[in-house]
Parts: sequence; C-alpha cells; structure tokens
Amino acid sequence: MSKDTKIAIIGAGVSGLVAAMNLEKHGYKPSIYEASDRVGGRVKTDYIDGLAYDHGFQVLLTEYPAAKKYLDLELLDLVYFRPGSVIFYKNAKAIIGDPLRDKSLLFSTIFSKIGTLSDKIKILKLRNEIKKKSLDDIFRAEEKTTLQYLKDFGFSDQVIENFFQPFFTGIFLENQLVTSSRKFEFVYQLFSTGSAAIPSKGIQAIPNQLSAKLKQTQFHFNTPVKQVNNTSLSLLNGDEAKFDYVIIAAEAAKIIPNLPDLQEWKSVENLYFEVENKVIDSTIIGLMSNQLKSLVNNIHYSNSLINNHYLLSVSVVKAHELSDQELINQVIKELEHIAKIRVVEFKKLYRIKNALPKMQSVSYMLPKSETQLKEKIFLAGDHLANGSLNAAMLNGESAALAVIEKIEKGRLDIGS
Ligand SMILES: Cc1cc2nc3c(=O)[nH]c(=O)nc-3n(C[C@H](O)[C@H](O)[C@H](O)COP(=O)(O)OP(=O)(O)OC[C@H]3O[C@@H](n4cnc5c(N)ncnc54)[C@H](O)[C@@H]3O)c2cc1C
Repeated sequence: MSKDTKIAIIGAGVSGLVAAMNLEKHGYKPSIYEASDRVGGRVKTDYIDGLAYDHGFQVLLTEYPAAKKYLDLELLDLVYFRPGSVIFYKNAKAIIGDPLRDKSLLFSTIFSKIGTLSDKIKILKLRNEIKKKSLDDIFRAEEKTTLQYLKDFGFSDQVIENFFQPFFTGIFLENQLVTSSRKFEFVYQLFSTGSAAIPSKGIQAIPNQLSAKLKQTQFHFNTPVKQVNNTSLSLLNGDEAKFDYVIIAAEAAKIIPNLPDLQEWKSVENLYFEVENKVIDSTIIGLMSNQLKSLVNNIHYSNSLINNHYLLSVSVVKAHELSDQELINQVIKELEHIAKIRVVEFKKLYRIKNALPKMQSVSYMLPKSETQLKEKIFLAGDHLANGSLNAAMLNGESAALAVIEKIEKGRLDIGS
C-alpha cells in the first residue's frame, strides 16, 4: 500500500495530535475525528473578555522528555513557577521550597514549622536519591502508595499533612495519596530537575502549538464517533467513514462493542474569582495544609489584571455534596478566613469529572508492541500508562509508529 493508506485518529487531545505528527512525518495524511469543537481534549482554556480560564489548574513540567521532543518551549512563552510553595496552616503561612534551586527559599524553608529539621534534611536526601534514578529504575520499582512510601522514608505525619499531602493532592487529584509511588518519584524527579510552567496564553497554547504543526491532517470537529466496527467509523451524525487503520486516542471501551469499560476517573473543581488583594506572588503556588480540613486545596494568581484587581484560580479536590452556589460560598469563606483574600466577584466554576485516570499501577509509556487492540485498530491516550501530558504524547507516538510499522511490514510481505 502507498502512503495513501487511510488512517483515522479518534480524539484531538494531545495524544491524538502527536500520533498525527508522527504519521505526517512518515508521509501519511491522517483524518482526526473530534467530538468537541477544538483540539486539546483535557488541555483546555476559555478566553473571555481578554482573560484566560484554564479548565483546571494544570502545569507543564519542562523536563518531560516528550515536551522537549514535541514542543517548542520558547514559543509557548512559559510563565515559570518558583520551586516552592506557600503553605497556609493554622493562622500562619510559610514559604518552603528547594533552596538548592532558589537560594531565597533557604531561610524560610529551614525555619518554617511545617515539619521537623529531620524532615527537611530528608526532603533533600529524597531529592538527591530520586535525581540519580533512571526512568527504568523508577518505573520498574515495586509499587506502593505514595503515603506508604513517605512513611517508609521516615517523614513525620506533620510534614506529610502540611506539605506532601496538599502538594501532591493538587497533582494526583486525590487526597489520600494512594497514587503509585512510581508516579510520585517521576514527578518529584522532574520537579527537582526542571520547572513547572504554564504558557502565558493559557494551557490551551500547548495543543494549539501541536496542531499548528500539522499540515497534512484533516480535522473533523464536532464529530463524535459512535462506534468503531473493524475499521469503519459510525459517526453520531449518522455518517459512516471507512479507513484502513484506526488509532483510538480516547476511551476505546466507549466506542468498541463488547470491550469491558473499567476506566474510572478522578475529578477536580476549578473556581476563578476576581480578588482585591494579592497574598502570594503569581510565581508560586499556595497550598492549604491538610490540618485545616478545608475544601480548597491550592490557589494560584494569574498574571492578568481585572479592573486593577487580580484573577485567582482555586482548586477543590475533596469530595462533597455542595451545590454550585454552596461551593462558591464555602470557598469564598475559606479564602477569607485562611488566606485573608477578599473576593470581589465570582467569575467561573469548572467541574471536571474525568480529569485524571484512576490507575492502580502505572507505567512510563505504552510500548509500540502493546498499542494494538485488533488487526487494524491501535490505542493511544494517557490512561494507558500514567495520567500526564508526557504519557499522552508518548502513547500517541507509540500508536502511530506501530501503525506505520504494520503498514510497511505488510508492504514488504507483499513484495517478497
Ligand atoms: C484538571 C486537570 C489537571 C491536570 N494536571 C496535569 C498536570 O499538571 N500535568 C500533566 O502532565 N497532566 C495533567 N493533566 C493530564 C493531562 O491533561 C492529560 O494527561 C492529557 O491531556 C491527556 O491527553 P489525551 O489526548 O490522552 O486525552 P484527552 O485530552 O482526554 O483527549 C481525548 C479526546 O478525544 C475526544 N473524544 C473522546 N471520545 C470521542 C469520540 N467518541 N469521538 C470523537 N472524539 C472523542 C475528546 O473530546 C478529547 O478531545 C491534567 C488534567 C486535568 C483535566
């Protein structure tokens, strides 16, 4: 078969986009079917009245190997976070962080009451141990929960509750720290070696940049795929489309008949407020200590100004039964009482049900050999390795390379 082989990709999230990039690189012209009106999937920003509202607080770790490979970080005009956090706890706040990377954090870190001196020495020890590990070391290690891992490392309950729990709740989107220790080590290593950052124009700049690189790909937006039968797509609008190969960069169980649908998801709520005062700098993340038992997990000031006020993003991870209005009221109360933040106006609430895949066991990426579901159907998406932009990109790459290998091997077999 020639490079006219018809390949469909379902899903224009980061994974589908990277799959398309790889197919284009090898001379193919894929078609992407996307249920929504734009690229990006879970990486999404609304632009309203000159302000950028990301759907959920989400950061790019600049040391992600896939980010270095597929993104032009300079063009993303990244806003970098300092390697630390401001922690709000019992009527006080403390700035702690990695003094080896930001010397200004040295004294505040040493003298903060978020943990014992021994905890702080252990944080540096952990950093040095994890920094030395290869990806293989990390992803082949025996898995335990992150909480167990921290306890086994000898951290006190105090530092776990004040620092690790709020910090990693915001990343794992669960507050019991049951996430695999592999994911913990992976993220900890990347935080120790690189930065967390958000594009100045919002997180959506990431998929926008990927899609701008696609010159031979045909996009079908607002076109949900209802079912995939062999290589035929039944679209929700009643149309059928026939392909030679299909890459599903979304949840396959939702569209392939008789596949068990076992995927569960972690959720998060993201609220935005116009606020009068700035209690922390916009280059640092604010965390609520677990001891406060607040609904709010983390806060972050965007760089944008509204009528000389500030735009504050607030994440809520803890489960609750509150209505929208009750949630907004509770968050305003907590911001005022805990952080002394005066809210001028509520702006937005995003309830993101399927934010990160729940996974008992995580891997770094899906190897090419494991992407094939059926003769001509291949799988991609972050949920097949670990919920991250890195995994989404690498799994998209794997699926595309597996399809290419299959096509080209078929060609050789016919020729021989
Ligand atoms: C709130 C939040 C915070 C996060 N924080 C971080 C973070 O800090 N760092 C990090 O690395 N990662 C983070 N992530 C995870 C990261 O966003 C994901 O790993 C990544 O976006 C997954 O990309 P994907 O392409 O695999 O899946 P998705 O983005 O889910 O893309 C799937 C696409 O398929 C489409 N689709 C689904 N079904 C169909 C169908 N039947 N027909 C057509 N189209 C369909 C969907 O509309 C979607 O566009 C976060 C995610 C969220 C939501």
